Amino acid sequence: MTLLEVENLTVSFPTADGVVRAVRGVSFTVDSGQTLGIVGESGGGKTVLTQTLLGLTPGADVTGRAIFDGTDLLQLSEEQLRQVRGSRISVIFQDPLTSLHPVYRVGWQISEMIRAHDKTVTKKQAAERSVELLRRVGIPHPAQRVHDYPHQFSGGMRQRAMIAMALALSPKLIIADEPTTALDATVQAQILDLLLHLRRESGTALIMITHDLGVVADIADNVMVMYAGRAAETGTKHDIFYQPHHPYTKGLLESIPNSSAAADRLRPIPGQPPSGINLPAGCKFHPRCSYVLDRCLTTEPEPRQIRGFAHTSACWLPATAAGVGGDAEHVREQAVHQGRIGAAVEVAEAIAASPEVQAWPTSPPPRP
Ligand code: SF4
Repeated sequence: MTLLEVENLTVSFPTADGVVRAVRGVSFTVDSGQTLGIVGESGGGKTVLTQTLLGLTPGADVTGRAIFDGTDLLQLSEEQLRQVRGSRISVIFQDPLTSLHPVYRVGWQISEMIRAHDKTVTKKQAAERSVELLRRVGIPHPAQRVHDYPHQFSGGMRQRAMIAMALALSPKLIIADEPTTALDATVQAQILDLLLHLRRESGTALIMITHDLGVVADIADNVMVMYAGRAAETGTKHDIFYQPHHPYTKGLLESIPNSSAAADRLRPIPGQPPSGINLPAGCKFHPRCSYVLDRCLTTEPEPRQIRGFAHTSACWLPATAAGVGGDAEHVREQAVHQGRIGAAVEVAEAIAASPEVQAWPTSPPPRP
């Protein structure tokens, strides 16, 4: 059952330097009990998108619809949104040390969150619930540790405490914004396992925002790859990993470190994401795309269906170019041959001459 349906969402910020077009017509759905991974580099609009759903982008010009459990979040007043935040939609942020108040005990902070949303809960009941929540997220000796201050917790324990807080009011949706980025690799794996376990146990839907496709591989059912404020590609996890169509998705896949290929170097995407104020004409990825065609320079492609029902890509390459093997590469080469007659040649040559591309071997790295 669809829990959240976002339709043609746009978010822009008027600034002294011009209008920042942070999110540009994004649509997606999240079903109950499912995980949507939103992936892309910094500045792609992932965080602005989800913060807008919770009314956390004051001063922004917002259009579109975001129907959550039958209610359009974009039409709610601040007071109504406050009721939604925490109790029906919770957020886990990247750095728990900045999210937890340093001078209050961890248990007190969880208890206050519970009591702020439900005045009928007594202090004693809230304290007992805090201990139970810390136990549920795997904090050892929760009855004692509930009295600790945040600085007495390790990084992984603090993130577990944040997850406990997010679960406190049994929300229908949890938005996790880079929840493992600040953690080392082993703790990251533990936190992802915990989120998966809790999602199965409680049936809560999850939106996982990350720059790391490896995280998505562990946890997501569906994936939306964002670039320059738009959905570059959407699909099931299988679509994105085994049938990628958009060159940006392909670039992200080629950037994943692979322990079985220690001798190979990673292949980065050349260049930087564009500023939301000065977006390039045509496809916003064209200054970094090695498949750029003439039409890419002038006309921005709309998302279109590729293979499966949910698999879409905003790219002019033919749908048959989806995939990771030599056949797909051959289709791409043919499309480039037919579609690159004039100006696109210059862009392609500039990309080929960029230092990042020069540094890497010509053979593609192994797939994850
Ligand atoms: Fe590359 Fe053109 Fe596709 Fe954009 S539309 S990703 S420039 S091939």
